[in-house]
Amino acid sequence: MMETINSSKQAIALEDEFGAHNYHPLPVVLAKGEGVFLWDVEGKKYYDFLSAYSAVNQGHCHPRIKDALIEQAGTLTLTSRAFYNNILGPFEKYITEYFGFDKVLPMNTGAEGVETALKIARKWGYEKKGVPENEGVIVVAENNFHGRTTTVISFSNDENARKNFGPFTPGFEKIAYDDIEALERALENKNVVAFLVEPIQGEAGVYTPAVDYMRRVAETCKKHNVLFIADEIQTGIARTGSLLAVCGNCSCEGHCEKQETYTRPDMLILGKAISGGFYPVSAVLADNHIMEVIKPGQHGSTFGGNPLGVKVAMTALEVIRDERLALNARKLGSIFRERMQLLVDKYKILKLVRGKGLLNAVVVNDSQDSSTAWDMCMKLAEYGLLAKPTHGNIIRFAPPLVMTEDQLHDCCDIIEKVVKEFER
Ligand SMILES: *Cc1c(COP(=O)(O)O)cnc(C)c1O
Repeated sequence: MMETINSSKQAIALEDEFGAHNYHPLPVVLAKGEGVFLWDVEGKKYYDFLSAYSAVNQGHCHPRIKDALIEQAGTLTLTSRAFYNNILGPFEKYITEYFGFDKVLPMNTGAEGVETALKIARKWGYEKKGVPENEGVIVVAENNFHGRTTTVISFSNDENARKNFGPFTPGFEKIAYDDIEALERALENKNVVAFLVEPIQGEAGVYTPAVDYMRRVAETCKKHNVLFIADEIQTGIARTGSLLAVCGNCSCEGHCEKQETYTRPDMLILGKAISGGFYPVSAVLADNHIMEVIKPGQHGSTFGGNPLGVKVAMTALEVIRDERLALNARKLGSIFRERMQLLVDKYKILKLVRGKGLLNAVVVNDSQDSSTAWDMCMKLAEYGLLAKPTHGNIIRFAPPLVMTEDQLHDCCDIIEKVVKEFER
């Protein structure tokens, strides 16, 4: 029988002894979640300011998504794609209309979504663009994060993520992020098939590029007959105040009547929050002239497009739309950055705040190898707010999008209290 957990200490000891040490978590053991709140094993309540890296935009255990999951779990969960099922078709129609693409290819995790897009782009390059086989180049940005598979880490800059995992997959070229001239130069190579990029670099520390970067990327790719692949696994699904971060400052909430202001990638990769935080689902969206290069037997996954997953995903997207979460993220994001800016102006311990919608980061005024950001996160946890440092001195703040304005102010008060305590 599985051991019952009565204390945080006991749970941490078990993970330490029996689990691979591939993460370095904050020492908080969570046992329950609801909306913007989490509770630990001892019953202490916290605001969640990470949202599982933006996978629970709809809030923890959203009742509507939970009901959809339970109902589908008792009806049909997995058929494999050897047969049709009665949920996949409706989901495919729903999600393609939702985001405005001809077709979707469903997978499970984000990294698989990225792999899928890379495979399609290469095949498109050889069969449609006429690039000689095995010579296709995919351009990526410095300091990217696209997942953890061997091919994906082949074009990472993170030495810790790469060291001793080689040999790597060839065919990738890195250029500076937010640099259109660098993209122009890279695309002079006729063998380039695609540019893969995050509209905001989340894992790198919430780097927000120039406001017109995405639009210019789309134009530049189009000019060179290169596919523009947007990895919106973290930034998508209302997180940044519009349905997609490529939507920029368009206020359509993504259901774009104003298509002219919407920067449209050729391929869109989604993951994280289309799960509603319940069940991993990822997806690659593209139009027919791209997606048609994939034929039976050339790509797939046993669980990709399973009835349980796509029912959950469909409901998770309905919640985003019905609860107008993009609008809420936009509104609360402005308030959050305003309040953080006041702290940055007042306290030397904070260097700057940046972000969009409810994907934000505060940079702590200390070296990357200092423990200040980690210590601040420990203090935040003590005062009931969970956030995690990244790259040593950056703290990412990304609560579920169902937060209220009062709750957000409450959270800013907690952050202010901690900042004050750390001011030297
Ligand atoms: C999280 C993330 C991924 C990887 O998703 P997994 O589900 O962890 O495989 C890929 N790209 C971006 C931008 C991400 O934030």
